[in-house]
Amino acid sequence: MIRMPLPWLVFTALFIFLAGILFTWLCYETIRRRRESRKLHAWTQCPLCAFQYKGTSSKNLQTCPQCGAKNESRPIHPI
Ligand SMILES: [Zn+2]
Repeated sequence: MIRMPLPWLVFTALFIFLAGILFTWLCYETIRRRRESRKLHAWTQCPLCAFQYKGTSSKNLQTCPQCGAKNESRPIHPI
């Protein structure tokens, strides 16, 4: 049996609990950012009118539905 003073026992339990929360939070944040990045990859922003639209990845040149300009496929990057 491990002998430990009560303050150290409380500190160790609290440390393990907070480390678990931090690890879970980092995992969820990583998954959320990957999902968000994948979702935004399909969207394109027109450089002329700044309109954001969902482009088709098969074409290299896309027509902006707002102003009709031909744009290269340029995915929107998250901040
Ligand atoms: Zn446009």
